[in-house]
Amino acid sequence: LVSRKKKPEDTIVDIKGDRIGDGNPHFVMGPCAVESYEQVSQVAEAVKKQGIKLLRGGAFKPRTSPYDFQGLGLEGLKILKEAADEHDLAVVSEIVNPADIEKAVDYLDVIQIGARNMQNFELLKAAGSVNKPVLLKRGLSATISEFINAAEYIISRGNENIILCERGIRTYEKATRNTLDISAVPILKQETHLPVLVDVTHSTGRRDLLLPTAKAALAVGADGVMAEVHPDPAVALSDSAQQMDIPTFENFMAELKKQ
Ligand code: PEP
Ligand code: MN
Repeated sequence: LVSRKKKPEDTIVDIKGDRIGDGNPHFVMGPCAVESYEQVSQVAEAVKKQGIKLLRGGAFKPRTSPYDFQGLGLEGLKILKEAADEHDLAVVSEIVNPADIEKAVDYLDVIQIGARNMQNFELLKAAGSVNKPVLLKRGLSATISEFINAAEYIISRGNENIILCERGIRTYEKATRNTLDISAVPILKQETHLPVLVDVTHSTGRRDLLLPTAKAALAVGADGVMAEVHPDPAVALSDSAQQMDIPTFENFMAELKKQ
């Protein structure tokens, strides 16, 4: 059902009027994790100033180490929604447990399924059964075909509002945190009718590569870019090395608008 052969025209995912897949670039920006109201609200204000509609922030954080910050959970989602409402933004946040979807849908506009859960089939089915857009990230070691099949799980349950997100894959290369598979973008656009985003933060893991990879993503036809923004990345509880501070984010957007 996600195949272009089944549906030749592009799917546009409408999130509070932000139409992902309409041919214009869209942005999903915000901190790696929700840490406090103060933190999120500063970012929300900066995001709004750029004319961006989608505010991200992790409340349920699937961390590689059990000893790392795990997120504020439902409390984090409530904080994110409060800050988003104040600036008329839409909330994008990851859900890791199918049992959380029902209570989380009141606080978010887009359900994010993270790389580590791309093949959590119960989660995919649960996200496919609700009336909320889903942002599905490519698994750490998933082929494009496995990625497309994960989206198929969601759409097969009735939910067609799916946004795919390339976020880098595991390779032998150590210069970046993951290897951004830029060619996945045109392949996904050719093979499916779904919109495609590129997450430049988690693919590169390097602040100095965010702008050039975002330019590359838009140049190859991505429908938008995701990146992380934090008021003070040095003290961030997660992904401190690659989040942008607000002036860097403003410069990032200004440079992309020059394209
Ligand atoms: C995220 O976007 O917050 C995240 C954890 O990314 P990924 O699932 O791609 O690692
Ligand atoms: Mn992060």
